[in-house]
Amino acid sequence: MHVAFLGLGAIGAPMARHLAQPPFTLAVWNRTRATAERFATGLPARVAHTPADAARGAEVVVTCLPTSREVEALLDGPEGLLAGLAPGTLLVDCTSGDPDGSRRIAARLAARDVAFLDAPVSGGTSGAERGTLTVMVGGDAAVLDRARPVLAAFGAKIVHAGPVGAGDALKAINNVLLAVHVWSTGEGLAALEKAGVRADVALEVINASSGRSNSSENLFPERVLTRAFPRTFRLALLAKDAGIAADFARAQGVDAPLITRTAELFRDARGVLGEEADHVEAVRVIEEQAGVTIGGAGAGHAETPEERATDVLEQPL
Ligand code: NDP
Repeated sequence: MHVAFLGLGAIGAPMARHLAQPPFTLAVWNRTRATAERFATGLPARVAHTPADAARGAEVVVTCLPTSREVEALLDGPEGLLAGLAPGTLLVDCTSGDPDGSRRIAARLAARDVAFLDAPVSGGTSGAERGTLTVMVGGDAAVLDRARPVLAAFGAKIVHAGPVGAGDALKAINNVLLAVHVWSTGEGLAALEKAGVRADVALEVINASSGRSNSSENLFPERVLTRAFPRTFRLALLAKDAGIAADFARAQGVDAPLITRTAELFRDARGVLGEEADHVEAVRVIEEQAGVTIGGAGAGHAETPEERATDVLEQPL
């Protein structure tokens, strides 16, 4: 099966690597060409010059870009995706996109007899490396069946969520829950730390109790208390997801004050910490306001540049 993969970022690259082997033949394209060339070194993958060049001859084209906006922009122009996609082919967008954007893209492709699925993933960069991602899919069930071999190359769980846009909506809600857990765990531990309760002691109790979450069980012990803060999933992307979740809830007529406030907090944290910060670094904003370091009373230690670069462990994002 001829496949094209566009967008070799933190999660796109390890996903695409699974497609650089039989029964697939792979063409890749990345905005920064040097990244695509680095990716293809030692792999049987063709580096395409343009999105159209990547799509030509491909039965399935996969995109994994920051937002639906970048995917939409890739469609147009003489060397855009639409110039390369043949009728009867299929575009699978693994971007954590927004439902309206995906519906617009699907409509434009349908006019050319190209099928579309929104298929965002969870499981983090480590899940992508291991090929154990969860893929949540919006679109036609029959189209999903055609895409299944490609999705199964990097996904262990493939779930049909509903029509086009349903995958994006589900992903956004999942991620705003992650954002709520990171932020609320940070607030709680900062307050406890100020009262003299060590963060490692607090987490020992919380993780044996009903307040636990992936944040308390994995993210805080491995990334905050160690001060490692590895960069696996940009805060800017989580802020984007929380914003999509807030818009989605509003569009459904659901008054969602917690989701809305969380989206605001992450938008502001992105403004403070910038485009390259990891999502867990949001706790730095809480620490700064509270005047305390979580884990500072004993469990943590000062971070070194080596620790910042440390890659970690399974993070189901
Ligand atoms: P990165 O920021 O690491 O990579 C972004 C990719 O998009 C790069 O290949 C970049 O190219 C490309 N890109 C950015 N802007 C444009 C543009 N205007 N036109 C064309 N290409 C562009 O993101 P991730 O790989 O982390 O995330 C990709 C998607 O997957 C996002 O929607 C994210 O929310 C989602 N996701 C990420 C997870 C993670 O753990 N990282 C987990 C689950 C979902 P270039 O190299 O030129 O910058």
